[in-house]
Amino acid sequence: MILIDGKKAAAELREELKHEVTGLKAKYNKVPGLTVILIGDLTPSQIYVRNKEKSANEVGLKSEVIKYPDSIEEKKVLEKIEELNKDETVSGILVQLPLPKHIDKQKVIETILPSKDVDGFHPMNVGNLSSGYESSVPCTPLGCYLLIKKVEPNLNGKKAVIVGRSNLNGKPMTQLLLKENCTVTITHSKTKDLKAECLEADIIIAAVGIPELVRGDWVKKDTIVIDVGINKTDNGIVGDVHFDEVSKNAKALTPVPGGVGPMTIACLLKNTIDCFKRSLS
Ligand code: NAP
Repeated sequence: MILIDGKKAAAELREELKHEVTGLKAKYNKVPGLTVILIGDLTPSQIYVRNKEKSANEVGLKSEVIKYPDSIEEKKVLEKIEELNKDETVSGILVQLPLPKHIDKQKVIETILPSKDVDGFHPMNVGNLSSGYESSVPCTPLGCYLLIKKVEPNLNGKKAVIVGRSNLNGKPMTQLLLKENCTVTITHSKTKDLKAECLEADIIIAAVGIPELVRGDWVKKDTIVIDVGINKTDNGIVGDVHFDEVSKNAKALTPVPGGVGPMTIACLLKNTIDCFKRSLS
């Protein structure tokens, strides 16, 4: 079984991006800039943002974090986004989710210029992705896609089963695999026989949020299994896939932690650089 090393893949991607930023700086005398807005003091959000900032600095991006207290008015946040939209030194804007209840998430997402939407959540980017046009792609599915391509460069005609239909993971993942000519089945909580669906798959992407849902006897030999889940349990962090069981059957599997997670941040940096490059043309 191939253990798909997300840490290594993310380090390689960061290295490539670092070279790219050096080249862009030499050619245009400016570097891509990422601005993250962090509202409130949720510990996981603070950790994510710190890691994003560290990685952005590592590859040579101009990185800025704007922090607001939980009590910040929605209007102030929207005004700041409008200001960043106009700022030529800012290539990408990310508002860390979740937001306090009084702030309308959709309004925030739709205020970010689609060309600076490094999360790929703006309806314009969602539409472009599903129409097969150039767009920012949400970072986690993009990371999954790059990991799959490392194991299997030619996905033509492969049967992919996606477990979970969230806007964040399952749906964009579907579009990425359709583009690669996979036959895609998207499953969810009302799917009648999830095990039977998974047993058909050459590729399984589990993005559910249920610890170890996908079992060893759900996976046929030669299947590539990507585990997006991050679940806190009494036994520590586990994925949506039963690692010990599935590793006995699968052709390749991502561990949790150390699989998809590290790729998510590296893909955010990639998206920022891609936004910068599109702004030049
Ligand atoms: P989400 O928005 O809660 O969506 C979960 C999806 O799973 C829904 O579509 C739901 O179906 C489906 N589902 C629930 N129970 C099911 C079942 N028994 N069988 C089949 N499908 C079922 O979750 P998410 O935001 O996509 O996150 C999923 C997991 O990924 C979480 O563990 C999260 O922490 C993790 N995550 C990891 C990263 C990373 O960087 N590695 C990034 C983001 C999220 P319905 O639509 O019918 O309700």
